Amino acid sequence: MLLEVKNVRAGYRKLEILHELSLHVGSGEIVSLIGANGAGKTTTLRSLAGLIHPSSGEILFEGVPLQSARPDQIVRAGLVHVAQDRALFGGLQVIENLVMGAYTQPKSSVRASLERVFDLFPILQSRRTQRAETMSGGQQQMLAIGRALMAQPKCLTLDEPSIGLAPNLVAQVFAAIQKIRDDGATVLIVEQNASQALAISDRAYVLESGSVVLEGTGQELADSAEVRKAYLGM
Ligand code: ATP
Repeated sequence: MLLEVKNVRAGYRKLEILHELSLHVGSGEIVSLIGANGAGKTTTLRSLAGLIHPSSGEILFEGVPLQSARPDQIVRAGLVHVAQDRALFGGLQVIENLVMGAYTQPKSSVRASLERVFDLFPILQSRRTQRAETMSGGQQQMLAIGRALMAQPKCLTLDEPSIGLAPNLVAQVFAAIQKIRDDGATVLIVEQNASQALAISDRAYVLESGSVVLEGTGQELADSAEVRKAYLGM
C-alpha cells in the first residue's frame, strides 16, 4: 500500500472535522474522494500535505509515518499536493513557477522534468514566459499540476482540479490525470464533479461528515443508487 490513512481525527482548533477517517491508496491507482460541501474532503488533503496535523491516527506513506511531518518533508517523501486555489506565484512567469516546483530536486533533473510537463501540457511551453496570473483558469490549473509534477511525486493529491473550468478544459485535465497515472504516478483526487471523477477512478470513497460512508470501484459507486441520487443528480 502506498498511502494509508488510519483512524485520523483532524480539524481546526477545537472543531473536529475528520472523525476516525480511514482510507488507502495503492501504488498506480487513481482514487477519488467525493462528498457534499463541508464533508471534509479538503481537510483530508490538507492533513495529508502536512498543512494541518491530526490530533490522533496515522498517515503512512510507503510505511513511513507522516502525520507529524512538515509540508516540505512530505513533498520530499514523494507526496505532493495541488491546492484548490492553485497557489501559483501570480507575478512570476510560467517557467519560473515550474522551476520553483522542483526545489526539492537536483538541478540536473530539472530539464527532463520540464520536458515531461511540456509534453503533458504543450500550452505551458508556448506560454512559458507569460505571467501566471494572466493565464486562463484552465491554464492555471495545468500550471499548478505541472508545478507539482516538477517535484517528481510518487503520489499526487489534487483538490477539485476541475473547479471553475469549461467542459472542454475539464476533459483535458481529466485526460492529463490519466496520463500522469499511466506514466507511473498514483493520484488521489477530491472532486465535486463526481461523475467525471468516478469515470477515471479505479476506486473511490464517499465522505459524509468527516467519515467514509461508502467505498468501491469507480464503476460500483457510479452505479450505486445512493451515489446517483445524492452526488450525480439522477
Ligand atoms: P468543499 O467542497 O465545500 O470544500 P469539503 O468536503 O472539502 O467541502 P472541507 O473544506 O474539508 O470540506 O471543510 C469541512 C468543514 O471544515 C466545513 O464545515 C468547514 O466550514 C470547516 N473548515 C474548513 N476550513 C476551516 C478553517 N480554516 N477553520 C475552521 N473551520 C474550517
